Amino acid sequence: MIDFRSDTVTQPCQQMRLLMSNAEVGDDVYGDDPSVNALEQWTATRHGFEASLFVSSGTQANLLAILSHCERGDEYLCGQNAHNYRYEAGGAAVLGSVQPQPIENEPDGSLCLTKLEKAIKPDDSHFARTRLVSLENTIGGKVLSLQYLAQARAFTNKHQLMLHLDGARVYNAAVALNVDIKEISQHFDSMTICLSKGLGAPVGSLLLGNHEFINKARRLRKMLGGGMRQAGILAAAGHYALTHNVSRLADDHDNAQYLAHQLNTLKGFNTEPYPVHTNIVFVDIEDNVDIQKICEKLKTQGIVITPGYQGMRLVTHKDIAREDIDKLILILRELL
Ligand SMILES: *Cc1c(COP(=O)(O)O)cnc(C)c1O
Repeated sequence: MIDFRSDTVTQPCQQMRLLMSNAEVGDDVYGDDPSVNALEQWTATRHGFEASLFVSSGTQANLLAILSHCERGDEYLCGQNAHNYRYEAGGAAVLGSVQPQPIENEPDGSLCLTKLEKAIKPDDSHFARTRLVSLENTIGGKVLSLQYLAQARAFTNKHQLMLHLDGARVYNAAVALNVDIKEISQHFDSMTICLSKGLGAPVGSLLLGNHEFINKARRLRKMLGGGMRQAGILAAAGHYALTHNVSRLADDHDNAQYLAHQLNTLKGFNTEPYPVHTNIVFVDIEDNVDIQKICEKLKTQGIVITPGYQGMRLVTHKDIAREDIDKLILILRELL
């Protein structure tokens, strides 16, 4: 199976499975799992935070972050396209009574600071209390510049707001910019990392922040039913992912460039409006191409793509090689 749907489909490699099966474990709800404790300590230091929490998913990490920064009746500012606004079932509002205040993302994925400023509510009983700005990097595969991150930090300092990063794919951003991860993480009060996307672990995300914040998040994680027991088996995979699968993300980025270029040579396919920064490729498809049908046919040949309505999103990852892309293009050309 050649699966272009997402980098979440990556399979744990043999070495990762071996480390998982040999991981020392304990009951993490009692704080007794040495592998979880080691991962949390190591990741806190590695990313320049006081503390870290290993959680089941990126969605849970974002939810815990928002609920730990905000109280009922507070609000967070984010993008219309933010994962933690659009794709997380409204969790912050449903479970925390925290109001999202989305604003349009700029074409580069950033949030315009002037527009953000206008969205901050005055201290007045009519309004929710604005507490937090949440950014996402990468967003739709796009990388936010370090300069923008510094500006966003200065902005939130000026307005006494917290700054959170949904960093599900923050390592893709660091690799694309060719900088140490701390160049990005240093600007934020809290940050999430998905271990189960391009980094290749089967399950797990990290939430990073100061001691007080992580203590609060730990309590909320238990409340949400996210306290895990012998989770060290998963933490071992996460540690392997962060120590072995980071620099190879550059291959995924190269493959995405190649994929976009090749798709663009197909009749009715246009990738030009969407410059590829990392491992996500968007393509516009002309109406006369029956992409639904094409995707069904591709599936019979072992290639999986989610068809879009006008366009498609394809994601490269460690289980997709250059030859797999060539195979896709060859079959697509025949089908067209
Ligand atoms: C995938 C993703 C999440 C959520 O992660 P899950 O582990 O799937 O819950 C959050 N934010 C972004 C930007 C993501 O891409």
